[in-house]
Amino acid sequence: MTVNLKLRQGLKEYRHKLELGLIETPQKLDPIEKAKQNPRSLRFAINAKCFECSGFERPEVKNCEFHDCPLHRHRPWQNKASV
Ligand code: SF4
Repeated sequence: MTVNLKLRQGLKEYRHKLELGLIETPQKLDPIEKAKQNPRSLRFAINAKCFECSGFERPEVKNCEFHDCPLHRHRPWQNKASV
């Protein structure tokens, strides 16, 4: 069985369990909640800081014009066409 086939089968089983209510629907966390759940992750910390700084709007982070900010080069969501 190839890896791709195993992944497809796993996804199919996962969706089936979701339909049956055997597992809970995954909760979508905002960047601040993710950082709180992963306090050792620098990536999540930067994401949370930029998200907060930009008024909780991801497109604002992408378009941030504060080039003097030490996080500017590391800010998230820079390359996505739509966020
Ligand atoms: S890079 Fe921009 S959005 Fe991120 S913390 Fe700095 S000023 Fe705020």
